[in-house]
Amino acid sequence: MKGTVSRISTGATEAFTGRGIARRTAIAAVIFLSVSLAPLGLAQRTRLKPGWNIFSPQQDVEIGQEVSKQAEQQLVLLKDKRVDGYLDRLGHKLASKAPGEKYPYQFKGVNDSSINAFALPGGFLYINRGTIDAADNEAQLAGVIGHEIGHAAMRHGTNQMTKATAMQLPLALLGGVVGSNSIVGLLSQLGANFGAQSVLLKYSRDAERQADLIGTQILYDNNYNPQQMVQFFMKLEEESKKSGGRPIQFFSSHPNPENRVASVNAEIAKMGGRAGSFQDSPAEFREIQRYVRSLPPAPKQPQQQQAKTQESGNTQAQRPQAPSGRLQDFSNSRLSLRYPDNWKSYDQGDGFTLAPERGLVADGSGNTSLAYGTIMAIFQPQASSSGRIDLASATTQLINSLRTSNPDMRISKDPSRIRVGGLAALATTLINPSPLGGNEIDYLVTVQRPEGLVYFIFVAPEKEFAAYQRTFQDMTSSVRFASR
Ligand code: ZN
Repeated sequence: MKGTVSRISTGATEAFTGRGIARRTAIAAVIFLSVSLAPLGLAQRTRLKPGWNIFSPQQDVEIGQEVSKQAEQQLVLLKDKRVDGYLDRLGHKLASKAPGEKYPYQFKGVNDSSINAFALPGGFLYINRGTIDAADNEAQLAGVIGHEIGHAAMRHGTNQMTKATAMQLPLALLGGVVGSNSIVGLLSQLGANFGAQSVLLKYSRDAERQADLIGTQILYDNNYNPQQMVQFFMKLEEESKKSGGRPIQFFSSHPNPENRVASVNAEIAKMGGRAGSFQDSPAEFREIQRYVRSLPPAPKQPQQQQAKTQESGNTQAQRPQAPSGRLQDFSNSRLSLRYPDNWKSYDQGDGFTLAPERGLVADGSGNTSLAYGTIMAIFQPQASSSGRIDLASATTQLINSLRTSNPDMRISKDPSRIRVGGLAALATTLINPSPLGGNEIDYLVTVQRPEGLVYFIFVAPEKEFAAYQRTFQDMTSSVRFASR
């Protein structure tokens, strides 16, 4: 069961374009200034901007802060003033030339000898000591850091969260999610805690390409040889081949974009040559590298294994536990109901999702759908010319709206009249492709309330639906509406 995604994206694109015009004017002014200062080819570089995002840049910082707390419990930080001080100076110098959103960046060394680095939303960057060790020069290290800055500045983490949230929640809920202060709740709903990391840190190849281009531009603007951007990645690939294909950590969290070398070279050609020689390997870098190599060896990292286990535990093949016959209470300002005590509730604004663990599944490209569980939300039907609308037509409008993101959804059993919470309701059985393959049954219950058409969708794969039917009926008959 997917959220009403196509409607959401259309609306968001329009909103974005509207804002984009004002933005472009501002950017044009800045570019004009820069060109007059540095006439060398600057105008022709690829202009990158963040994609669709329902979060504010300030929320990026809040999310980053929250996740960095979790991350730092799991990482072994280097906590070395000399190294952190160096990374912080280098990082801020690089970030000052980044396009996109400006964040109060923070750079920390990790006591891990594997080659990796990552960026959380809002500019929290972590760099493994193995990266400093492996770089041939400062330009290569700067390329990796610049690439990570690119992920933060282009807001790739919350862009992924936006896509995952939109897929999972009906349109009516989206406003509630972003408006609510429960960033922590949202993160846990999306499985975006640091251990799961799929939503925040597994980027698409397009995002990787953007990050490469920004890293390249940052190198260029800081007087490093931008070729070093790809030199380092090529060197890592060579080494991985030499060691019998042992994958380099960096590539497992940053998929290699196709034609990486070609796209970086094309960008370098666009930016044009520049006068003067490159400052690729200042004395300070060589001193820090020598110093890092002199430190006691990094500890073995048990949490990397742990992270892997969590990842494979996340695969779609595993079924959730059967719904428990013991029910627990859920209530919000509009209604209460009872649901299995081995399910979790995710409360957002006007609606909520109730689902077993593994009831929400990722499709591998950062999107999440509900395969088992229940969504409750509110739909605003279009009133007829008389200003009124009956339950049956409101329900038909809702189903049409759900079809915009679930185009193969069809009615398998015509609506029947039931009562929910003492009110007249319609129960409609729908069939829809399941995110797990095969079909799912979506049992839709609709009730008219002053706030709109309140609806519940009870979702389970068709083959297993019988095992859930009893639970869904118990949940339906437990609904009580708050008096208002
Ligand atoms: Zn990356």
